[in-house]
Amino acid sequence: MALVEIKNVHKNYGHLEVLKGVSLDIEKGEIVTIIGRSGSGKSTLLRCINALETIQAGEILLEGQAVSADMRDLRAMRQKVGIVFQAFNLFPHMTIERNVTLAPVLTGKVEKPAARALALSVLERVGLADKLRAYPEQLSGGQQQRVAIARCLAMSPHLMLFDEVTSALDPELVGEVLKVMEEMARQGMTMVLVTHEMNFARNVATKLVFMHQGRVWEQGDPKSLFANPQTPELKSFIGHHS
Ligand code: ADP
Ligand code: MG
Repeated sequence: MALVEIKNVHKNYGHLEVLKGVSLDIEKGEIVTIIGRSGSGKSTLLRCINALETIQAGEILLEGQAVSADMRDLRAMRQKVGIVFQAFNLFPHMTIERNVTLAPVLTGKVEKPAARALALSVLERVGLADKLRAYPEQLSGGQQQRVAIARCLAMSPHLMLFDEVTSALDPELVGEVLKVMEEMARQGMTMVLVTHEMNFARNVATKLVFMHQGRVWEQGDPKSLFANPQTPELKSFIGHHS
């Protein structure tokens, strides 16, 4: 059984059909990158996976269990799926430690006395153990994004979703965030990323998904697809992004 099974998913916003029958399996430990033009449905697909959106038809299974906005165990499901967006959304009036431990403490995942150790361990994984007492505004964009990743890690997710997490960063800060994600990949985290970072898609990902007009247009081994796109649409996309 795949960790995530996406079966013939259709998603509309009113009359606009945004996902037109998307099917995709994500195995445990896989690093899946989703590429495609703006408006092709990449963000919508990610948001469907953790039920930030409802779907009109089809099915999404996480660890064999159907995901939906009205599922009984929505909160439990969300704790298994971390999502990081382009905007880091840290709480500006809270220290980095508190930002990272808020959810685990509130959900009872960790007792308050153990929270600092948890914060230290996840901040260490993103190279920011020395920023425990800092506030978000004292950090660079790249550091804030790494904190946002650490905040997800603090919930011990089974799956992490990243939606263009480096797109808003100054170019010189992109590398440090990619490095953190690469390290997570190496440690076996299952990850799905929407990204424009073609080097990451080619060299780190285990699967490449090209979306076009609400459909999975091509999917497969990244290196083969980059070397040998099967459709003119992917060929042209790669041409414009490398
Ligand atoms: P991508 O991430 O590939 O750029 P999106 O999934 O964000 O694409 O959007 C796919 C399509 O759905 C676009 O045409 C977009 O305008 C539309 N869309 C996205 N979110 C909404 C929304 N909340 N309401 C209406 N239309 C939306
Ligand atoms: Mg998007």
